[in-house]
Amino acid sequence: MSYHTQSFNEYIAQHHERFLAEFAKFIAQPSVAADNRGVQEMCDMVAERFRQLGAAVTIYPTAGSPVVYAEIGPKDAARTLIIYNHYDVQPEDPIELWDTAPFEMVIKEGVIYGRGTSDDKGELLSRIQAVEAWLKTQGDLPVRIKWVVEGEEETGSAHLADWVKEHAAMLQADGVLWEGGGYDEAGRPMFGLGGKGLAYFELRCQGPNHDLHSSIAPIVVNPAWRLVWALSTLKDANDQITLDDYMQHVRPLSTEELALIDAVPMEFEAMRERWGISNWIKGQTDHQARRDYIAAPTINICGFHSGYGGAGSKTVLPAEASAKLDFRLVDGLTSPLAERLLRAHLDRRGFTDISITDLGGEEFAASRPGSLVQHAAIAASQDTWDKTPIMYPWFPGSGPMHPFGVVLGIPLIFAGATWHPDIRAHSPNENIFVKDYVESMRFTAAFIARFASLEA
Ligand SMILES: [Zn+2]
Repeated sequence: MSYHTQSFNEYIAQHHERFLAEFAKFIAQPSVAADNRGVQEMCDMVAERFRQLGAAVTIYPTAGSPVVYAEIGPKDAARTLIIYNHYDVQPEDPIELWDTAPFEMVIKEGVIYGRGTSDDKGELLSRIQAVEAWLKTQGDLPVRIKWVVEGEEETGSAHLADWVKEHAAMLQADGVLWEGGGYDEAGRPMFGLGGKGLAYFELRCQGPNHDLHSSIAPIVVNPAWRLVWALSTLKDANDQITLDDYMQHVRPLSTEELALIDAVPMEFEAMRERWGISNWIKGQTDHQARRDYIAAPTINICGFHSGYGGAGSKTVLPAEASAKLDFRLVDGLTSPLAERLLRAHLDRRGFTDISITDLGGEEFAASRPGSLVQHAAIAASQDTWDKTPIMYPWFPGSGPMHPFGVVLGIPLIFAGATWHPDIRAHSPNENIFVKDYVESMRFTAAFIARFASLEA
């Protein structure tokens, strides 16, 4: 170990109450990107916290939420690390399902509740506090850190890719430490080298100019039926994607990737139990479910709205129907390709009346195994928990990794351990364990030490 862990651990123990008090302030400041609530205030609060560290801080306005950018550590350090986090949170609704006030830190039996506790303010602040503890107990940092904290991750990071491209020269680095590292049901740290892409569309079909009496159904087209028919052409009853010319773009997995995927342990029984289901789609085996979960593209219906859905009956022919779809993208698929093929597919079948609105997307990104950040994360996991992490070749979820990992070509790693299996991210009663909050500091210090000292 290349830093003095005892003094580091003593420092974070001595300052535990203050660190939690800072966390309470972060949680108490709403920063909901979806309706631009408190975003600027949160941005300023994060910038101020970086200034307290002695970092050089710049707030970059974008067409959406500003980016907080902080640099700290010796300018002539041999290695430079980008750390990515976000300061925005998901909306708190449905608020009636919260057991505590969403924008108030409540600690009960070792669990900290509040919006943003795990996604992503807890990880952001615990990493900042780790750097503080390092500076107070170890001296200067052994690496240059470039911290990118964006404010619209929860709405799809619409302006981050352009910002990264614009500042490509400033963002040169040897690796990226991403957000969102967690652990599974068995307590094994789960790290990853990237994530699937995402394309999000709204499909809309317009019928008569207002809802009609349903007796008119024999002679006026029902937009809900139109949309159901259109959607039913995108997947067959065996759950195979049937979007024209789509699947041929999927890059086949290499044997190395298949081996990585097959080596990922999953608690299938516990997952089924938690979700209240008895088997996987198509009745497939756990073995195949693992491969599909990680490597299969999806076309998912997130929501469908039309006509009357209230209590009892109401006979109506709705004026319009809409559906929200998300496509998880694997290597070879991109969001512009998905939109182009979807439009052509619908037109070819006569659904020219169904509009497609692009609601944002993110491209697939996965770093190749064997990078310095990957080795540093594995070593830091052993230092912190005495455990070898599970390594996903990419996660089934998505995030704005593409600008860093692919456009700039910097190897990245999802690593850390603030996400336990029941954090309720995006849901009521979002939480983080006090223990994980503290361990995130220890992991961050170990990661920095390993990143600085491991042979490339
Ligand atoms: Zn989130």
